[in-house]
Amino acid sequence: MHPFQYQRADSADQAVAAVAKTPGATFIAGGTSHVDLMKEDVHHPSLLVDVSALPLKQIAAFEGGVRIGAGVSNTAAAYHPDIQAKYAAVSEALLAGASVQIRNMASMAGNPLQRTRCPYFRDPAQACNKREPGSGCAAIGGYNHVHALFGASAACVATHPSDLAVALAALDARVQTLGPRGPRTIAFPELHRLPGNTPHLDTVLEHGELITAIDLPAFAGRSHYLKVRERASYAYALVSCAVALEMDGPTIRRARVALGGVAHKPWRVGPAEALLAGQLPTEQLFQAAAKAAFADAQPLEHNAYKIPMGRNLLVRALLETSGLQPLQGPAGTAFAASVGGVAGQLATPR
Ligand code: SF4
Repeated sequence: MHPFQYQRADSADQAVAAVAKTPGATFIAGGTSHVDLMKEDVHHPSLLVDVSALPLKQIAAFEGGVRIGAGVSNTAAAYHPDIQAKYAAVSEALLAGASVQIRNMASMAGNPLQRTRCPYFRDPAQACNKREPGSGCAAIGGYNHVHALFGASAACVATHPSDLAVALAALDARVQTLGPRGPRTIAFPELHRLPGNTPHLDTVLEHGELITAIDLPAFAGRSHYLKVRERASYAYALVSCAVALEMDGPTIRRARVALGGVAHKPWRVGPAEALLAGQLPTEQLFQAAAKAAFADAQPLEHNAYKIPMGRNLLVRALLETSGLQPLQGPAGTAFAASVGGVAGQLATPR
């Protein structure tokens, strides 16, 4: 591990100023992802500014919705009664991620900022434009089974790993930040970037810009998160989806759908949302929406299996969210399966 300096911030203003004025500086909260990258010789910060002691650990009602402080742990948010009752997809996504020990440490701001699990990114011996701009991309032409179907570029085909981010994108969450130029609000679907020619930049956050809270706007419908992974726990999504349905009697008034594990950012699928709005929920409708969601997918050499898997997962999520099919597994937990088991069935076209 490279030498670095460490500083504990007493206020958000102080933290922002310290990072903003120091090239190579970064914030650290739970450290559950960041420290791994430092130990793996992937990230070499000059200065870590510790924001874990800042008073950003409240979950409170806000403008008809909920405001979650940036420093709230993933565990505290997952089991908060308002989040479980009104934003089930958020709770389910959090409980589908990592281990209990990591959820206890990881913060709500840090979770959506975790970096890709592309294996070449985490191996300094491999070419990787995200880790070292201009060095190339070993995944293109390599073993790219966990990589992107949408929005990739000739420089990077990585996917974003956060489960929580997918649920927040579907629920139109907003990110509150404090930066060197003051506070601002970012719509969650705009937080992450596509790779383009600058895959080393994951988000639109500026150097020294600190997330202070995540707002969940008022929502009177049902939401749900489902994930398929290579083993039943402590694994990242091959494909996931978050669905938020608002009903008008028996009719779907508004639908929001975000996919995970398929792009450099949580992937909202407008065509599927438009197909669902104003319709009565049926399996036939959900099949059509799932087909529309993946119509523009551009598979790589080893990841075409994600298309039928994602379609089938989305149909299942819509059936469960609309009540046409009972929830699978214990209430409040996300579905997960090994590739050889139920996930293998999900990968079968139908
Ligand atoms: Fe690096 Fe992106 Fe290529 Fe993976 S896909 S090796 S993260 S440039």
